[in-house]
Amino acid sequence: MELRAAGKPSDLKGLSLEEIERFIVGHGEPAYRGRQLFHWIYGRGASTFAEMTDLPIALRAKLAEQASIGTIILAAREVSQDGARKYLFSCADGRQIETVLIPDEGRLTVCLSTQVGCALACAFCLTGTMGFVRHLQSGEIVDQVLALQRDLQPGERISNLVLMGMGEPLHNYDATVKALTILAHPLGLAYPPRRIALSTVGLVPEIVRLGQSGLEVNLAVSLHAANDELRNRLVPINRRYPLKELIAALRAYPLPSRRRLTFEYVLIDEVNDRPEDARDLVKLLRGLRCKVNLLPLNEAHAIPFRRSSREHIEAFQHILKSAGIVATIRESRGLDISAACGLLATETDQKRLDTTGRLT
Ligand code: SF4
Repeated sequence: MELRAAGKPSDLKGLSLEEIERFIVGHGEPAYRGRQLFHWIYGRGASTFAEMTDLPIALRAKLAEQASIGTIILAAREVSQDGARKYLFSCADGRQIETVLIPDEGRLTVCLSTQVGCALACAFCLTGTMGFVRHLQSGEIVDQVLALQRDLQPGERISNLVLMGMGEPLHNYDATVKALTILAHPLGLAYPPRRIALSTVGLVPEIVRLGQSGLEVNLAVSLHAANDELRNRLVPINRRYPLKELIAALRAYPLPSRRRLTFEYVLIDEVNDRPEDARDLVKLLRGLRCKVNLLPLNEAHAIPFRRSSREHIEAFQHILKSAGIVATIRESRGLDISAACGLLATETDQKRLDTTGRLT
């Protein structure tokens, strides 16, 4: 249990219900006090023990001495012309992460980060150019939602959560799954799993583990190419987990009924947007319960690609639709504030994951 760094009060933010119950029982209190504490921290967003008015005053004082409720600090907020909001947060160690709030057709979606930087170096992604700095702790993942909830305008309510910000969530598996458990727990933030989506580039063993976890969040796979040669170039982790293995894991994935897998496909001019690429994709996805999101590339200075023309994008979509695949063109939000897909980046080069899955 991640309770105590030497000499520092235990940070309860990020602990699961069972861990908080163990903590509280370890301090001579009944387990139900742990449930109250869990609900105060996550369900009600308390940042001090003094606010927890249904706990005895003596217990609140004891907790204030022996524990803390860590929070990330809002460092900057930018608002896009299209209404998307990008938040920059500072963590306790000074590292910074970005979170995006996207209003769209009656929904309010939060795009969460799970790592500082990313080790996977996808060729079209600015976060990938940062390299890996560190994993976020579960509390830092959950706290992005709590911080945004505090910043909402009257009448606004977050409806959906997507783990598609900085980092590969399944590379930080344990903290991500713990954060998801807290986000979905009825005494925690109580977001229904069907309103949560986790996006991965395809770490096969972790996809299998996620399927066995019983979490039932939606799974999105960043595909971007339908043959190994091209995908090796665009998504280097494909050399470790080639398409055959990835698709086999997805075919075996225990999808809840009436749910579909989502495939994300960034369209890059003359790289992966030709009719034969679309036909390869149709063949690859045959028999899978899925939909495809077509994402015109968000160009950036450090990225050596151009976005596909509208004509190519629509022709690509037409081939998928003609084969009976649900395919939607999704324009990114927040382009003017660099809040769009693949444009989140805050720091400098650190480490990368090699093709054996080790950090170098
Ligand atoms: S697309 Fe996702 S996995 Fe790939 S480098 Fe960017 S953040 Fe990492």
